[in-house]
Amino acid sequence: MPMPTPIPMPMLDDFLAYTLAGMRPAANDAQGVCASGVRWSWVDDGVLAMEPAASEADVRSVMVSAGIHGDETAPIELLSLLVRDIAQGNAALTCRLLVILGNVDAMRDACRYRDDDLNRLFSGRHQQLPASHEAPRAAALEQAALQFFARASTAPGARWHIDMHTAIRASVFERFALLPHTGKPFSRAMFEWLGDAHISAVLLHTTQGNTYSHFTAHACGADACTLELGKVRPFGENDLTRFAGADLAVRQLLAGTHGNADTDRNMPRVFTVIDQITKHSDAFELLLAADVPNFTSFAKDTLLARDGAYRYTVRHHEERIVFPNATVKPGLRAGLLVIETTADTLSKLV
Ligand SMILES: [Zn+2]
Repeated sequence: MPMPTPIPMPMLDDFLAYTLAGMRPAANDAQGVCASGVRWSWVDDGVLAMEPAASEADVRSVMVSAGIHGDETAPIELLSLLVRDIAQGNAALTCRLLVILGNVDAMRDACRYRDDDLNRLFSGRHQQLPASHEAPRAAALEQAALQFFARASTAPGARWHIDMHTAIRASVFERFALLPHTGKPFSRAMFEWLGDAHISAVLLHTTQGNTYSHFTAHACGADACTLELGKVRPFGENDLTRFAGADLAVRQLLAGTHGNADTDRNMPRVFTVIDQITKHSDAFELLLAADVPNFTSFAKDTLLARDGAYRYTVRHHEERIVFPNATVKPGLRAGLLVIETTADTLSKLV
């Protein structure tokens, strides 16, 4: 019996379909040049590098990831369309680009993850969970980022990572960004870009986490952000126009046209994490509606949670809750509390 001939599926025309089909190029076919002159190189499943025909030494390096959670389909589709448009010369590329489709196995299963949340496994945490289905993927995505940024310029603002997500929970601010804690000042270019991407709120972490953007900020020196871009639907059922602001801003960043004489830019409001609600035992009660939107505000002295002798009571004039979740395991975070720090943060951007 002859082997069935594989159906040809041009990688760059539909990188998502190619990746979901589990296709890989032959070793001598893993890189090439598009009609547009852009050079491409297949790095790993769902990982593709692209760079302009001629690039200067201090060219910007931008990593764009989606699908770190496998069911967050809209940004995954947008990223695949972006690859096609760059390859066909319909979107300009003036910087080095690394495209990452994150949890490919979970995408195939239309689920968030199989064993463990991939976005809690970075910065080496995967080594503590070697049996997890997601552990080798976290290690591979760390390697892909390290390799990509090893050849990147070290000039200020030359390294970017944009990790695109969608949320299940409603939000007072439909689109918001999470910035990793690095101890370094935040970049004005990043905040301006977030405003251009129609991101209306930014959450500043104050401790280190295990997300992909924390990893690239710490290990690769990238200006990194996690974007929460609104609600999620199955593949093909997304109204991609709702994500148009972020999509356009990514395309402008890659084209090198972002930040040019934009006078009516709205800077996002900024919120800083001040505390968390911790679930101590199964007696834990979160005294909020199960579907309370992210960034819902509460006044001073409001009791938000109790668990035996533990109480969480609002201490500031106003605190807002983000990512409330009473169903986590005891010992884990059941919600973050933030306060607004817009004026202070924007006055200190560099
Ligand atoms: Zn996500």
